[in-house]
Amino acid sequence: MAKTIDTKHAKPTAAKLPTEPLSAEDYRSFFETLGEDVISSATDSNGNIIYVNEKFVEISKYSREELLGQNHRVLKSGAHNPEFYSNLWKTVSSGKVWRGEIKNRAKDGTFYWVDTSIAPILGKDGKPEKYVSVRFLITERKQVEEELERRKEHADFLASATALLISSLDYEEVLRHIAELLVPRIADWCVIDLTSADQGDRSLNRVASSHRDHSQLRLLRRLQTEFPPDPDRLLGAYQVFKTGRSEFYPDVTEDYFSRSAHNGEHQEIMKNIGIASIVRVPVRSRDAVLGVITLARTSSARRFTRDDLTLAEELGRRSGSAIENARLYQRLQDADKRKDEFIATLAHELRNPLAPLLLNSELLKKDIEEISISDERFARIAESAASTGRQAETMARLLDDLLDIARLMSGKVVLKKEVTELQALIERAAQTTHPLFESFGVALSIAPSTALTVYADPLRIEQVFVNLLNNAAKYNRRGGHVDVSFRTNGERVQVMVKDDGIGIEEAALQRIFDIFTQAGPKNTHSFGGLGIGLALAKNFVTLHGGTLTASSGGSGQGSEFTVELPLAKEDRLNPRSATILVVDDNADAAHALSEYLKRMDYTGVHVAHNGEEAVAMGKTLRPNFVLMDIRMPGMDGYATVREMRQHDAFRDTMFVAITGYGQEEDRRRTQAAGFSHHFTKPVDLSGLLNVFIQTT
Ligand code: ADP
Repeated sequence: MAKTIDTKHAKPTAAKLPTEPLSAEDYRSFFETLGEDVISSATDSNGNIIYVNEKFVEISKYSREELLGQNHRVLKSGAHNPEFYSNLWKTVSSGKVWRGEIKNRAKDGTFYWVDTSIAPILGKDGKPEKYVSVRFLITERKQVEEELERRKEHADFLASATALLISSLDYEEVLRHIAELLVPRIADWCVIDLTSADQGDRSLNRVASSHRDHSQLRLLRRLQTEFPPDPDRLLGAYQVFKTGRSEFYPDVTEDYFSRSAHNGEHQEIMKNIGIASIVRVPVRSRDAVLGVITLARTSSARRFTRDDLTLAEELGRRSGSAIENARLYQRLQDADKRKDEFIATLAHELRNPLAPLLLNSELLKKDIEEISISDERFARIAESAASTGRQAETMARLLDDLLDIARLMSGKVVLKKEVTELQALIERAAQTTHPLFESFGVALSIAPSTALTVYADPLRIEQVFVNLLNNAAKYNRRGGHVDVSFRTNGERVQVMVKDDGIGIEEAALQRIFDIFTQAGPKNTHSFGGLGIGLALAKNFVTLHGGTLTASSGGSGQGSEFTVELPLAKEDRLNPRSATILVVDDNADAAHALSEYLKRMDYTGVHVAHNGEEAVAMGKTLRPNFVLMDIRMPGMDGYATVREMRQHDAFRDTMFVAITGYGQEEDRRRTQAAGFSHHFTKPVDLSGLLNVFIQTT
C-alpha cells in the first residue's frame, strides 16, 4: 500500500508519498483509522474543501453538501488577525506542516477552538496540490484559559482605573483618562455622561468620549451634539440614570436601533459608529446616581459578556464614590474659604470703628499732657483715657493678627522682599514691645551681631519677632529675663529668643504652632491673645524659606524659640526680570498663566506648547524657571525635563511641575524627575509668585 499518510504525527516536512491522486474514499478510510474524535478535512491548493469527515460536519454545524466546494475561510471567527492566516499559508505553501490553535465559527454563530495540524501534499512538481488537516476540539480548555485571561485583564484594568480615580480631585480629567484606558482594552468606544456638581441637577453632560478608530470620534461627537441623550426615551443613558439599573445588550439587533434612534439619520450615524454589543451602567455614589458610562463593541465577534457587565458596574461604583469624595472635598474647601473670608471681613469691619477710637484716645492723651489740673478726678480721667488707649491698641493688634491669618489661610499673602539688616529689624521689634516688658517687669537684652543681611519682607519678619518677644514677656514672671542672640554659618542665620519664664510642657511643644492653640496653664490666659501669634510667626518664617522651632525644659524651666533664615546672597536677581518658560499643550491654560505673570510685572515670560518646542526654545532662552505641564501628548513633562537636564542651557534652571495630579506618589515622582516644586491645577498663584521670590 503506497497510499499511507501519517498525519497524526505530522512531520515538519510534507508527505511526498502519493503518486496518484487520493480519492475521497481514500481520505475517509485513512481518517477513520484516527478515531472518532478527530475532525479532519482536505482542501485543494486554494483552500476549497474537497473532503470533510463526520465529526467536521457535526462540529461546524454545516451539512457536508454546504461544505464541499466552499473555501475553508467560511469558518473564520474573526478572532485571529490577518498575520496569523498569512503565516499559516506561508508555512503550508512552502511545503511545511503548520500546527496551531484556531478559533472557528460554526454555522449557528457559536465558536469552537481546535488544535490543528495542516499538512500539504506535494504534487510531482514539488508544489502543494492539496492540504489535509487534522483537528482536535479544545474549546473547553480554551474557555478556561480565556476566562482566566479575561479575569486577569479585568483585575488589571480595575486596579489601574482605581489608581487613576484616587490620584486627583479633578474627576472630569480622570474620567477622560479612564475612557482612554477602557478603549480598546475593554470596549471599542465609550462615552461618559455626568450630572454637574450642583445638588439636584438632573441633566447629563458628556465629560468623556473615546473611540478606538480616531476618525470615528467625530461621529461620536456629532451624535452628542445632534442627538443628545433624551430624558424621555425608554432606552439609553437617561433611563439608566433614572432607574439606576444597567442596560445590557450583548447582541444589538435592528429592533435596538429603531427603539433608541430619534430618526433615520440618527440610526445611520449609530450604525456607522458601530454598535454590535452595548453596555450602560450607572455611575453610582452612596445614595445617588451621578452619571452613566456607556461601553460598546463594534464587532459581533467580541460581544460583551456578563463578566464585562460586572466589571463595568464595579467601575461605575468606584467612579461614583471617587466623584462623591471629590465633590464633598470641594464643598468643604468652599466652606473653609467662606469661613476665611468671613474672618477677614469681620476683622476688617471691627477695625473700622477702632481707628477713630485710637485717634481720639491719642488726642485725649495729648490734651491731658498739656493741661495740668491738680484734681483727683482729673487724674482718674487721665488714667482711664490712657487705659482706653492701651486696650484699643491691643484690640487693633489682635484684629491685625486675625486679618493676617485669614490672608495666610487663603494664600493671599505675597511677600515684599528686600535686602535688609536683621539686627535693625529686631531692634524695631524690641521698641514695639518695650511697654509690655516695662509693665511686666521683664528685662530684655539683645546680643550685638555683625552685619547680618537677609532677603526678607521687613514688616513680616519684624512681626515675627514682635510676637516672640511679646510671648517671652507675657509668659514670664516679674524680674524675668529675655535674651536674644545670633548664630550663623555664612549661609543661614539663627536668632534665639530665650526666656526664663513659665516654660512649656514637652507634650505642648508641637501644638503651640497650631492656629487657635493655647498651651499654658489656664490662668496664663489672663494675658489675652487668640492663640494665633505663633501660627502666624511660623507661617511667615516658612514663607521666607526658614524654620521656627521651640524648646523648653518643661514647666517653670523657661523657653527658647529659634528662627532660622537664609542669609541674603550677594548677586541677587530681581524675580520680575527672571526668564520664565511656561510649557503646556493646552494653549488657553498656557496663555492665561503667562498673561497673569506679565500683569504681575514679570517681563521675561515665554510659552511653549509641547516638550520638543520647550527644549528648543530653552536652549537659547536659558530660563531661570520652567513651569511644566506633566501630561502632554508626545514628550510628556517628565521626558522633557529629563531631556532638558542633559543640556548646559538648563544648568541653573528651576523646574516647577504644574499638574492635575497631587497625590503623595505624584509629588514623589515629580521630585524624583528633578522638579523642585509641584503645583496642582488650578494653580495657587500667590504660592507660585512666592517660589520666584524665594528662590531668586
Ligand atoms: P497666644 O499668646 O495668643 O495664646 P501664641 O500662638 O502666641 O498665642 O502662643 C500659643 C501658646 O504657646 C500660648 O498660649 C502659650 O501657652 C504658649 N507660649 C508661647 N510662647 C511662650 C513662652 N515664651 N513661654 C511659655 N509658653 C509660651
